[in-house]
Amino acid sequence: MGTKAYIIITDLDASLLDGSYSYKDAIDALDVIHEEEIPLVLNSSKTLSEMLVIADKWRWKRKPILIGENGATLAFPKLDIEGECWSKYIKSTALLGDYFCVYDPAAYERILSISNKLRINHSFKFEGFSDLSAESLSDLTGLNLQASKNAKNRYATEPILWHSSLEDWQYFKQKISAHGIKAVRGGKFFHLMESGYDKAIGMTSVLSLFKNRYPNVDWKTFAIGDSPNDRLMLEQSNLALVIPNAEKGMMALRRPDYYSAKFYASKGWNSSVLEILNLSLTQI
Ligand SMILES: [Mg+2]
Repeated sequence: MGTKAYIIITDLDASLLDGSYSYKDAIDALDVIHEEEIPLVLNSSKTLSEMLVIADKWRWKRKPILIGENGATLAFPKLDIEGECWSKYIKSTALLGDYFCVYDPAAYERILSISNKLRINHSFKFEGFSDLSAESLSDLTGLNLQASKNAKNRYATEPILWHSSLEDWQYFKQKISAHGIKAVRGGKFFHLMESGYDKAIGMTSVLSLFKNRYPNVDWKTFAIGDSPNDRLMLEQSNLALVIPNAEKGMMALRRPDYYSAKFYASKGWNSSVLEILNLSLTQI
C-alpha cells in the first residue's frame, strides 16, 4: 500500500460544536487539519441544509464533506483543491449551494406515506416536521425561522412529536419496522429513518469513495463523537475519540484502544485532536 493518510469524521453537536453551535474553541486543531490537508467529514443527524450553514463559514480551500440525517445523505464540495472534483466518483441527486448531494430521492416520501397510513389505520397521534409549518417549528424548538426552514428541508429522516402512549409507541415501532423503517426514541423528538442507514454506514460510504478516487493511499478513519448514535462509527473506525457529554457523561466504547477527551465539546475536541494528530502524524 502507498502512503497512510487519515480522514477525520466528526459528529457536530456537543462534539465539534459548543452549546451555541460554534466551533471557535476548535480553531487551532481545525487550522492544523487544514494545513496538513487532512480531509474533514462532518457527520450529523442534521439536514444537509443545516450543515451547509456551518460549512459555509469555512473560508478554506478545502470544504468539509457532509454526511447528514444519520448517514442517509451525503454532500461533496463542487470544487476542491486538486482541480478535479467529486462528480466523477458519485452519482449526484441534487445540487445544494456549492455541494453535490447524494441520497435516495424516494426515501422521505416513503417514510411519510407509511407512517401516515399507520397513523390513520391505528389512530396514533403524532406530528412530524412535515406536518408543522416553519413558524410552529420555531415556536417548538426556539430556532429562528430560517433555521426551522433548513431543519424542514429533509431527504431521508423524519422527527416526530409522539402524542399517544408509550405502549402505542412500541406497537407503532413494531409495525413500521416491518416496512424497513427504524423508529428511535430521542429527547423531545422521536425519529423515523430507513433501517439501512446509520452514521457508521455514512462513514464507510465516504471511505470507499476516497479509496476509489485515491487508490494509492492507504486511507484510515479517525472518528469523533459523544453520543450513542456515534457509537457504531466510533467502534468501526481506525482511531476513535470520545468527547464527554455534559449531561450524559463519558460514553464507554466496546473497544480497548480509544481516546477520551478531557473537556466538553469543542474545547475537548480541540485539545485531543491536536494531541492525537501530533502522535499519528509523526508515526506516518
Ligand atoms: Mg453529538
